[in-house]
Amino acid sequence: MDLTMSPRHDAFRAEVRAFLEQNRGKALASLLGVEAGGVREGVLAWQKLLIERGYAARTIPKQYGGYGAEPDLLERVILDEEFGRAGVSRGVGGQGPDMLVPTLLEHGSEEQKRRWIAPTICGEVIWCQGYSEPGAGSDLASVQTRAVEDGDDFVINGQKIWTTTAQLSHMMFGLIRTEPGAAKHAGLSYLLIPMDTPGIEVRPLRTMTGHAEFNEVFFTNVRVPQANVVGRRGEGWKIANTTLKHERNMLASSAQLESALLRCAELMKTERAGGIRAIDRPLLRDRLLRLQSRVLAMRCHSMRMLTCGLKRESPGVAALVTKLAGCEVSHQIAGLAIDAMGEAGVLYDGAKHVRAGGGWQIHYMFSLGLIIGGGTAQIQKNIIAERGLGLPREPGVVKPEKA
Ligand SMILES: Cc1cc2nc3c(=O)[nH]c(=O)nc-3n(C[C@H](O)[C@H](O)[C@H](O)COP(=O)(O)OP(=O)(O)OC[C@H]3O[C@@H](n4cnc5c(N)ncnc54)[C@H](O)[C@@H]3O)c2cc1C
Repeated sequence: MDLTMSPRHDAFRAEVRAFLEQNRGKALASLLGVEAGGVREGVLAWQKLLIERGYAARTIPKQYGGYGAEPDLLERVILDEEFGRAGVSRGVGGQGPDMLVPTLLEHGSEEQKRRWIAPTICGEVIWCQGYSEPGAGSDLASVQTRAVEDGDDFVINGQKIWTTTAQLSHMMFGLIRTEPGAAKHAGLSYLLIPMDTPGIEVRPLRTMTGHAEFNEVFFTNVRVPQANVVGRRGEGWKIANTTLKHERNMLASSAQLESALLRCAELMKTERAGGIRAIDRPLLRDRLLRLQSRVLAMRCHSMRMLTCGLKRESPGVAALVTKLAGCEVSHQIAGLAIDAMGEAGVLYDGAKHVRAGGGWQIHYMFSLGLIIGGGTAQIQKNIIAERGLGLPREPGVVKPEKA
């Protein structure tokens, strides 16, 4: 692995750093993110600036509204590192830009790319992911929400659950059963569904954060053009897995972990109990050092992924380690920050003495969910064990014999 940067990459890093110094004020507005009624004006302006500079949507072709640079993994690493170091928002991200857009680039028709990529990357169109159902989570191919052909349309009936930001979204990319006679995995299609179509009802689900980040979505005779299928009918399983690959990459980058660890260490220097700084308490300090070693291990792991990417080799199941270990470390860093606050750690939402607006508490509760979302830790471990380490497959469900 060659870790040296070329002079061109050093110059790029200096350029990004100077940009962040000059524009930090504009970025702050964008940290507020998505909220009811769409994306805040400040966020849209920040995103526009980032795309113009090539710091967002960098490799998305110009004809779809991106910056149009050639893919360069080291530039992506530099952007992650510099934005993380500066504690500045990378702009609009999430299910649309980070998961749907790469899926459309790989599998979408030209018409779908032209219609959806530009408004998605600039933050005008917000997307949600309609995969999970009450009986289909880890066993995702058991999806029962079905679409029946009617002329040029599909008519959809069924229910999705745990649909993050459905209440704010303009569009859903959903996994729907369209081929009733086909085998389990072959009967699914990947459909783009406008959320304002008559027959869609969104009901919020409140989580332990106290907010309703995700929802149930009910479909009653929802009519969607067949032209909204991405790829071919019955190919939905393959396409949904492309999206899941991008979701796992999005959920835990080592640059985010390093940034969180540094913020936690800073907090531990200022928090005191009985006149002693949290960082000087052996138990807390020990936890910080253990986490630092895990974050460093994640950094080495991401360099390994990067090396595979530069050589155009598939990292195989090693890629799953990023999501599995990254989400757990992220949760543990937030837990340490809360413990470092002592009594103030239990304060939350609007409490007078709450630290940093309760950000660490939200991080702690939300990142616990991320260990489940996008494929649970247990399922990731099963895959790593079976496909990576060659351990025997877990026993399947034994069906009772017919009498
Ligand atoms: C924060 C968050 C956001 C989410 N956002 C979305 C979203 O936007 N869109 C969407 O479609 N879904 C979303 N989900 C749903 C998520 O994908 C599912 O929760 C996840 O796939 C698990 O499915 P399940 O909840 O049905 O649990 P189950 O599949 O019922 O699993 C229950 C438990 O059993 C374990 N288990 C199941 N099978 C096995 C096995 N074979 N071996 C070992 N253990 C097993 C699981 O690990 C888990 O601990 C979100 C979830 C969370 C927590």
